Amino acid sequence: MARPFTAADFTDRMTRAAAQASAAGLSGVLVTPGADLLYLAGYSPISITERITMLAIHASRPPAMIVPALERPGAEPAPVALRDWADGDDAYAAAAELLDPDGAYAISDSAWAMHVLGLQQALPESRYVSMTDALPTLRAVKDAEELERMAAAGAAADAVFEEIATSRFSGRTEAEIAAELARLLIAHGHERAEFTIVASGPNGANPHHEESDRVVKEGDMVVLDFGGTKDGYGSDTTRTVHVGEPTSEEAEVYDVVRLAQQAAFDAVRPGAACQDVDRAARGVIAGAGYGERFIHRTGHGIGLTVHEPPYMIEGETRPIEPGMCFSIEPGIYLPGRFGVRIEDIVAATADGGRRLNDTSRDLRIVS
Ligand code: ZN
Ligand code: ZN
Ligand code: ZN
Repeated sequence: MARPFTAADFTDRMTRAAAQASAAGLSGVLVTPGADLLYLAGYSPISITERITMLAIHASRPPAMIVPALERPGAEPAPVALRDWADGDDAYAAAAELLDPDGAYAISDSAWAMHVLGLQQALPESRYVSMTDALPTLRAVKDAEELERMAAAGAAADAVFEEIATSRFSGRTEAEIAAELARLLIAHGHERAEFTIVASGPNGANPHHEESDRVVKEGDMVVLDFGGTKDGYGSDTTRTVHVGEPTSEEAEVYDVVRLAQQAAFDAVRPGAACQDVDRAARGVIAGAGYGERFIHRTGHGIGLTVHEPPYMIEGETRPIEPGMCFSIEPGIYLPGRFGVRIEDIVAATADGGRRLNDTSRDLRIVS
């Protein structure tokens, strides 16, 4: 079990956020409930409600957070000054007191639109930009303790695959296998199973098929894509297995995806653009004649959430930096027939990438 993050960790992170905002020409950072608030202040309200909770971070003054009066007890441990507002108060006037009236702020991408509109009305001269656009590396670049958690989550997901791969597939429904994946994620230390995709036969051609009552049978390709959070950090891995011996076409398609995934991994290094990783995978798949059948981006960032920037996609020219964690998950999808996807989480290092998932990427034959 990793040591819990402390008030000193959160204070360091808030200082870094303020410095990054200043460097971007902004007055400060506004943080609303969700992964940003958890990361910066260690605070997660029991439920995200319509009542505004917002942390304001400025380089020039200590961080302060406005909270609904009834939620104040839960917020007390956060290492920030608290200001509460009661039902019936003008919440946006109260929140505005924490801001520079003509300030420009980076605000959490997940802030409710009604809260941003309320602030804009209270402070007509203020301006707001997306936190991930303005401070793209803040959560994306993980520190050593976060990387330790990411690696542990990856290893736990790998253990889940090794266990499910020895179980019987044929004769069971996708839903039954998905339920077993969810159970195994918890058994291997995840506090939550976020998703358990089991896509067999023709269902595998839909990348976001979840599960169904389809009974898996001999001859099926089965895409298994699952993950959750462990010590707060996400896991996400995909392996495609085959029930019995594959046809030569199935083996060939599988091999194209495997080579594409390897090419994308080999493209990971500091300073390379995120789109270079996508191009490497896409080049292999297009070269084999399946370009039209790779219908999604190559990867997404992961950390406190399972899908977050940076995205490995054409047009994303931001450079990879050591400490970034993201998926590499090319696939080929043949409508009405089958699909193949292979996914690992990769952490960028000083000279390349390190896979946080490392179960065999050869086609696994299951029963
Ligand atoms: Zn088959
Ligand atoms: Zn996945
Ligand atoms: Zn993924």
